[in-house]
Order: sequence, then structure tokens, then C-alpha cells
Amino acid sequence: LSVDVLAVGAHPDDVEVGIGGLVRKLTDDGRRVAILDLTRGEMGSRGSVRERKEEARNAAGVLGAVCRESVRLPDGALCNSAEQQRAIIPFLRKFQPDVILAPMRGDLHPDHEAAHYLVRDANHFAGLAKLDPESEWEPWRAPRVYYYSVYREPALPALIVDVTRQFDLKVEALRAYRSQFHNPDYEGPETYIASEQFWEAMRARAAYWGTRLVSIHGVNQHTADQVNKGVLYGECLFSDVPIAVDVLPGLEKTG
Ligand SMILES: [Zn+2]
Repeated sequence: LSVDVLAVGAHPDDVEVGIGGLVRKLTDDGRRVAILDLTRGEMGSRGSVRERKEEARNAAGVLGAVCRESVRLPDGALCNSAEQQRAIIPFLRKFQPDVILAPMRGDLHPDHEAAHYLVRDANHFAGLAKLDPESEWEPWRAPRVYYYSVYREPALPALIVDVTRQFDLKVEALRAYRSQFHNPDYEGPETYIASEQFWEAMRARAAYWGTRLVSIHGVNQHTADQVNKGVLYGECLFSDVPIAVDVLPGLEKTG
């Protein structure tokens, strides 16, 4: 059941909004990715928990995730407590990810802020042998944790990933949340994420980071083609620590 990457969201759809393109890019590359939702999104204005569960499963399928589970912590009441950390730890130990992708601090929703510290600290304590020694899962601490913003980047990110080829599937994964997102057929209260502005903002945000990607890539055949077609999208990651590399970024394919 172990995976390469565990993508964690506070609510179902956080992973899709923040890094849907990156998750699909990883699975395109043959990586095993699991998605872990901390809550079931039961405070959402639209739809029911049952609908969201079904939608989340469909979205995970679009992104190629091997598995999607929920910690079932309370939506709207995430906090970095020992109790909530202990609820997350068995999932981290079970999946044994090499990389965790978790919400960044400084985002709009208080649950995203709480999830940032909660996942960071749960990962630390999951590695302690004396914590819950009777557990069926061995201690495990993911060596790397990167953070993504669900709605907005609070600062300059550490990494930008080219998700141009995956962007349409990110949109398709989001459209799987039929009760939450723009769907004129759905009779429910109007919310920001159900508006056309949400979709435009999501595209503009990815396109903005795409422009920053061009300056990082420099001009080479691959990106020049994409710029000429007017399609270049990026998603961002943050890191609490300097990112250690063996090969300088830019030199991976040479030498
Ligand atoms: Zn959220």
C-alpha cells in the first residue's frame, strides 16, 4: 500500500484546486500517489457528504491516484492538537510516502492554515518509535514535505512545476465536484467557488505562474513551442527548508 507521494488536503477538492495538475503529472510519470482528505467537507454550503464522497472518488480517478481516504476530522474545526495529529499518524505510517504535499500557511481558509501545521507535526511524530508502539503500522517519517496553496500563494514559492499538459485534466477533476463548482443545472445556494469567476481566477493563476516558468526555463524548443501556442500553466510548491539537490536544476538531462 506504500506510495511515492501523499497529497493531503483539508477538504475534498483542496488537492485538485491547488495541485491537480501536479498530481496528474506525477501519475503520468508512473508515480504512485494517494490523496488524503483531513475532513469530509461537511460544512460545504452545497451538496451532501455522500455526494462529495462520490465526487472525490471520481476526481481522484481523473488524476490517476491509486487511493483516496479521509481522516474524518471535523470540517471547520481543524487545529494542531495532539488528538488530531494522532488521528493522522496511522495514515502517514500506512502509506509510507517519500514526499508529502500539504496545505501552505497564509491561505484564506483557517482549516488550510491549521492543516499546514497539523500535517507538518503529524509527520514528525509519526517517526517516533515510542508513539503508539502497539500500532499495526511501523513508525515512518516522510523525508520531504512540500506545501501548496489552495487559493493563493502568500509569497514567492520555492518551486514552480510545468503542468501545461495536465491542465485540462485538472479542470476535468474539478468538474467532477458537480455539487460544488459551476453547474447551472444544480439548484443550490450560489457560492464563490460555484461562480464563473472562480474558474477564470484558477486559469489566470495557473497562467501567471506559467509566465514565471518561462523565465526559469529560459527559451528552449519545448517551452518556446508552448508559449507560441499560448498554453503554459504552472503550479507552485513551498518548502520550510532549503531544497537539497544532487544535480543543479537545469542540468538534469545533461552530463
Ligand atoms: Zn479547503
